[in-house]
Amino acid sequence: MASNVANNVNCTGCVWTMLEFCGVCRNTQELLDFLVRHHVVLSECWCPRCGESCRVDLTCFSFRCDRRHVRVDSRSRRRTWRCNYKRSMFLGTWFSAVRPSVNKICQLNCLWLTLPYPRQHLMITELGVSKHTVVDWSSFCREVCVFWLEKCSQVLGGPGRFVEVDEAKFGKRKYNRGRVIDGTWVFGGFERGSKNCFLVPVPNRGSDVLLDLIKTWIRPGTTIISDCWKAYDCLSNEGFVHQTVNHSMNFVDPRSGAHTQNIERIWREVRGGIPRFGRKEKHMVGYVAEFLFKRKYSDYRQRLHAFYTAVGQLYSPAVQQSR
Ligand SMILES: [Zn+2]
Ligand SMILES: [Zn+2]
Repeated sequence: MASNVANNVNCTGCVWTMLEFCGVCRNTQELLDFLVRHHVVLSECWCPRCGESCRVDLTCFSFRCDRRHVRVDSRSRRRTWRCNYKRSMFLGTWFSAVRPSVNKICQLNCLWLTLPYPRQHLMITELGVSKHTVVDWSSFCREVCVFWLEKCSQVLGGPGRFVEVDEAKFGKRKYNRGRVIDGTWVFGGFERGSKNCFLVPVPNRGSDVLLDLIKTWIRPGTTIISDCWKAYDCLSNEGFVHQTVNHSMNFVDPRSGAHTQNIERIWREVRGGIPRFGRKEKHMVGYVAEFLFKRKYSDYRQRLHAFYTAVGQLYSPAVQQSR
């Protein structure tokens, strides 16, 4: 075996503090082992010319084939030549366009996963990279969170279960106070007990849009608690038990005890967890996904494992190689 990288054994769970992982990032061999264990890069590659296993060249993150071949020329003389096949380890992976170096980008990802907003200035200063690099890789990280969210989302509720639903608008407030004028609506649901939730940016909060999402995300028979927004009026005709709380009157309905305080707490968390500049509609999906990823792994030490596992699934190097 020419490979000097750990065997391709997938990691089933690891925890890292920020300092520990940044230490790993400074050691190329350790970092590569980490990426291989999370299926982000492959530990070996077969030379397409010779069919032999390539060696790993850590100086340039490449697979190389040094195999010597012998051929006999027209004058019956033996000639040797070296294969010299070379391929980047990152070809077809999440790191295929990596600049400046994978070590630095992995540190950047670690800070991105750990630090709260605002963090851009700190990342630029700590890592010595450009604003452009931070913006680009932050957006790549959010793409991973969107993929993670699509893959792990669960339908909520069922008979006997309670789901609070609500809509909120995220954007700029006129003169920084009062109602949000320009912004994006997000529709969300929170299941009591499990504390699982879904959040989906929506073009508007019309009945068709919300009912479609409710049917996608909430099982029939669930007790749905909402405010008195008219789009929810049809819920009891659609196979749900429906309770309402009139927010203009009180926060908890005095007769049924219905309230939507859990989903309202989620809105407060989202407002704190999404930067003002990210509240345009096209960015909202990514910011919501980032928020939900970090909410799921509220212990930040578990985030690197979950994040790189998702990277390995999103840009599976094995799939890329067999094409
Ligand atoms: Zn792990
Ligand atoms: Zn070769």
